[in-house]
Amino acid sequence: MSILWASTGYGNISTRSTPDVAREGGKGDWTRRTQAAQALGWIDPRTRAVTPAIHPSATFLRDPDNRYTSGYGYGRDTNPTYDQAEALLTELEGGAETLLFASGMAAATTVFQSLAPGDHVLAPRVMYWGLRKWLGEWATAWGLAVDFVAMDDLDAVRAALHPGRTKLIWAETPANPTWIVSDLAGLAQLAAEVGARLAVDNTVPTPVLTRPIEHGADLVMHAGTKYLNGHSDVIAGALVTARADEFWQRIRGARHDGGAILGSFEAWLLLRGMRTLFLRVEAATRSAQWLAERLANHARIAEVLYPGLASHPGHAVAARQMRGGFGAMLSVRVKGGEAAAIAAAARVRLWKRATSLGGVESLIEHRASIEGAGTPAPPDLLRLSVGIEDPADLLADLSAALSSTPGSS
Ligand SMILES: *Cc1c(COP(=O)(O)O)cnc(C)c1O
Repeated sequence: MSILWASTGYGNISTRSTPDVAREGGKGDWTRRTQAAQALGWIDPRTRAVTPAIHPSATFLRDPDNRYTSGYGYGRDTNPTYDQAEALLTELEGGAETLLFASGMAAATTVFQSLAPGDHVLAPRVMYWGLRKWLGEWATAWGLAVDFVAMDDLDAVRAALHPGRTKLIWAETPANPTWIVSDLAGLAQLAAEVGARLAVDNTVPTPVLTRPIEHGADLVMHAGTKYLNGHSDVIAGALVTARADEFWQRIRGARHDGGAILGSFEAWLLLRGMRTLFLRVEAATRSAQWLAERLANHARIAEVLYPGLASHPGHAVAARQMRGGFGAMLSVRVKGGEAAAIAAAARVRLWKRATSLGGVESLIEHRASIEGAGTPAPPDLLRLSVGIEDPADLLADLSAALSSTPGSS
């Protein structure tokens, strides 16, 4: 891959890891916040463009001797538009390499499909619903043995491990939709003891608030659809690895052979979004904390689920593991049960009743009706993705929606 870097035509960056990059490419002395703002500071050497080009080419010219010294051959997975976004995410997560995928689900499922039939994996009981469903329906058909455990309980995780057979622990923290917190360092140690890998869905905290590799994770997964992009206009996924080892080459091969690749325009939008990642995540996180504290005292709310509240069972672990805040996702349990929750969601005007999360606009959703039978979401739960609007407007709108008499408008 370093060949590829030498010849992408961007800046003077020669490899992902040489110390020279510190001076020439914007790494090293500068913080991740600075590197994100400038997308590593890459400059196109021919045009001096500060903003990268979009390369739509599906194929690249061979050398006369049939080689591809440019590093690009066929656009299924060699794409110059990926390079800067992948390099920036590698830097933000403190990893070795990154691969972009067609969606968060494509990234996540590629990890499981890179295991061998018969392998055992542990996944959380409380996790992103779509992946939980895929694990139950498809991973088992693929021959994997999947056990769902309380990932916030290290004793339960230890008891569920099958030394020699367990190859992967999958974690998500804070986890959809109750925001339970898993101890990543503790899980990494348990995984290492049995020779398994730890993979972490880091979509919700983003590397701004948590960098799982620092806590011992082997792989980090992102739905780039959410905070990394931040504007609800791209579906994208990514995997970051701590080491470019043999398993990573299998994952790379799975992307190449399976073809779950991202389009060039989507990769470009993803990079543009990542430039403002810190500003957006910090603003939304401040608003979420502020809202959680106020909603906790609201007459129509039974409970606020947010790791930034001292009452949350995962608060202490989150305080140790997260930096700069507890994220911008929270859930509320509405007094009066399911009907009252659905009625409140029906009455908001500013919050948008929509699925997804991590955009600049705030979203509200009744999760139990989305997730259906078997969901760990209580029926009175509304999930809130806090955006970057004025938090006072968000509170006023939600309060009005909660407080009006059901049925009135
Ligand atoms: C959205 C999401 C995913 C799936 O990402 P897609 O891009 O929709 O495939 C996975 N994990 C979490 C936590 C998510 O929020």
